Amino acid sequence: MATSREKDLMRIRAILQRRRRELLSASDGAHRELSALKEQERDPEYEENAQSELADYTLSSLVESQRREVMLIDAALRRMDMGVFGTCVDCGADIPIERLEALPFAIRCEEDATRHELEMRGGHTTAAPTL
Ligand SMILES: [Zn+2]
Repeated sequence: MATSREKDLMRIRAILQRRRRELLSASDGAHRELSALKEQERDPEYEENAQSELADYTLSSLVESQRREVMLIDAALRRMDMGVFGTCVDCGADIPIERLEALPFAIRCEEDATRHELEMRGGHTTAAPTL
């Protein structure tokens, strides 16, 4: 039978797919803005270099964080296809829907995520987010 959990997971999937589309179109917009800024820099009349660099950096990091979110969404959608989305990778327990709605990229239950985070903090640091 289709449990309410399955319906909840399908709802989260739809949210993720919509978010993915939003990110990809927003990302295009940011790229265009960035190109426009680069054009301005070539203009000899454009003197505010420091400000331009700052804006450049902000846009680059925005694009970077958006790209990372798209990757996280893709990974979540892949886990849905494999039927393991919403299952803790450490203990195999179902991650509560409330947690998945707040953190759709979570791959661990709250308990294991906390433990994992503490281990990561104590050990080596990585650039990858641990959810
Ligand atoms: Zn767990």
